[in-house]
Amino acid sequence: MTYLTVPILDFEAEAFSWALQGAVAGGADMVELRLDFAAGAQPAQVQPWVEEARHAGLRVMVTCRPEWEGGHFSGDARNRLTLLQAAAAAGADLIDLEWRAVRESADFAAFFEQIRHKTVLSHHDFHQCPTDLEQRVAQMKRLEPAVCKVAYQPANITECFAALDLMSEDVLAMAMGQAGTMTRLLAPKVGAFLTFCGLNEQAVSAPGQIELQQMKQLYRWDSVGSQTSCFGVIGSPVAHSMSPAIHNASFGEVGFDGLYLPLLVDPAYDIFAAFIDGLRKRPWLGFRGMSVTIPHKENALRYLQEHNGGIDPLARRIGAVNTIVLREDGRVMGTNTDYLGALEPIRREMLRLDRTLSDSHAAVVGAGGVSRAIVAGLCDAGCKVTIYNRTADKARRLAQEFQCKHAPIEQLSSLKADIIVNGTSLGMSPHIDATPVPQDVLGNGTIVFDSVYNPPETLLLHQARQAGAATIDGVSMFVQQAAAQFHLFTGEQPPLELMRSIVEQRLSQA
Ligand code: NAP
Repeated sequence: MTYLTVPILDFEAEAFSWALQGAVAGGADMVELRLDFAAGAQPAQVQPWVEEARHAGLRVMVTCRPEWEGGHFSGDARNRLTLLQAAAAAGADLIDLEWRAVRESADFAAFFEQIRHKTVLSHHDFHQCPTDLEQRVAQMKRLEPAVCKVAYQPANITECFAALDLMSEDVLAMAMGQAGTMTRLLAPKVGAFLTFCGLNEQAVSAPGQIELQQMKQLYRWDSVGSQTSCFGVIGSPVAHSMSPAIHNASFGEVGFDGLYLPLLVDPAYDIFAAFIDGLRKRPWLGFRGMSVTIPHKENALRYLQEHNGGIDPLARRIGAVNTIVLREDGRVMGTNTDYLGALEPIRREMLRLDRTLSDSHAAVVGAGGVSRAIVAGLCDAGCKVTIYNRTADKARRLAQEFQCKHAPIEQLSSLKADIIVNGTSLGMSPHIDATPVPQDVLGNGTIVFDSVYNPPETLLLHQARQAGAATIDGVSMFVQQAAAQFHLFTGEQPPLELMRSIVEQRLSQA
C-alpha cells in the first residue's frame, strides 16, 4: 500500500481540525504533522495534536524540520528533540529524523536507536540531485530505519529516473518541483511507501506536491497499481495541458487500467532523447505511449529516425510526430494525429453534404505547424489546396512541398472555395475580435473550419454560421486528435462526448 499523505502546516485549533477533516474527507491515509510550522510549539501541545489526528482515523507521521534541512524550525536542537520525543510518546506512527541530525548529534543518534522501527530517516537536497545519491542511500540503509527517504531537486525530468530506481528498491525517493511530478504520481505504480500531496494549493510543504483532490480525481489514485499502463504528454510548458484530464477521465469511462501524466521535458533534443531512452530501459514503469506537444514534435521525429522507429509516412512528410507508441517488443512507433483531428470532422461534414474531398477546393489560411498538418492531410485525401499566409514566402515553400497552390493573402477577399481553414492564431483569446477571412466570402454551402479552440466559437465561425456555412470548431480538432491517440494507446473506442465536455469545461474555466 502507498500511503497518500497530507502535510499539516497550521496548528491553530480550528485550522488544525479543519485540515484533518479535509484530509479524511479527501481520502488521505496519513498526515504529516510538520511541527516546524508551529512556531513556539511546546512538548505538552504535541500529544493532543497526535491524538486528534489518530482519532480522525489517520496514520500520523511527525516531522520537525530544521532550517538547515530546508524546514522552518530555527530553535535549539534540544527543543526540537523534546518535541519529537513527545510525538513518539504520544503514539505517532512514524517520526521523521534527518540523517544529518542522527550523524552529527549523539542525542539524536540515541533517540533514533530507541525509535528505529518507526523512523523515517530523511535526507534532502533542495539544489540538485547528488552525484553520489546511491552511496548516500546505501549508508542510510545500513542504519536500518523503518523507512529511508531521499528528496532532491532534479535538473530536469531525466533525473527522476534515479528516484524511480530507488523506489523500486524500497526507498522512499522523490524528485521535487514540476520536473519531478512523475515521481509523485508513479508512487502507487512502483509501490512506494507514501506520496505527499497538499490539502490545497497553498498547503504544500515542498515544491511539486500535487493537491489531494487532483491526486484522487484527475490522477486516478484509487485505480493505479503495479499493473497500470502509463502514458503522458511531453511538452514544455505542460502544466496547463488539457490532455491529462481528457485521457485519465477516458480511461475511467472505458474501464482501462491506465494513468496519464504531464511530463515536463526541457526543449533540447538531448534531454528528449535521454528521457525516452530512460523510459524504454525501464519496462517495469509500464510506459506505453506519449502525446508530444510544443516544442518536441520535431524532436520526436528525429528520435524515431535515429532509433530505427516506425514512422507513419504522413508524419514523416509533415515533419512532426505528436504521438509515440512504445511497443511491447521494444520498438518505438510514431505518428501524427493532428491532421486526423482536422480531417475527421471535415470528412464527416462532407459526407453529410454528400461531397468528397477529392472533388473539393480548400483554402488554408496560415503556413505554421497546424496548417502544415492540415495541408498534408487534405492533399493526401486528393483535395485541391491553396495556401494563403501573411508571410508569403512560407506559403510558397509549403505549397511547393505538398505540390499545391499558394496565393497572396490579399486575394482572400475574392475567395471561392468549398472548404476554408483557419490555421493561424487570429481570433484566439484574448484577441477575439480578429478574423483572417472577410465575411462576404463566407457563403452558404461552404465548410468553414477554425483550428483556434479558445474561444470555441471564434468570430470567423460566428460570421460563417450567420452566412449559412457549415462550421467546425477547433475543439473538434483537439478532441479528434486526442481520440485518435487514445485509440492507439488503448485499442479502445474513445468516449468522444466525454472528451469534448472536458475540453469545454476546461475552456470555460480558463
Ligand atoms: P505557428 O506555427 O506559430 O503558426 C502561426 C500561423 O499564424 C502562421 O501562419 C502565422 O503567419 C499566422 N499568424 C499569426 N499571427 C498572425 C496575424 N496577426 N495575421 C496573420 N497571420 C498570423 O502556430 P501553429 O502551431 O500552427 O498554431 C496555430 C493555431 O492553431 C494556434 O494559435 C492555435 O489556436 C491553433 N491550434 C489548434 C489546435 C487544435 O487541436 N484545435 C492544436 C494546436 C494549435 P506568419 O507565417 O506570417 O507568421
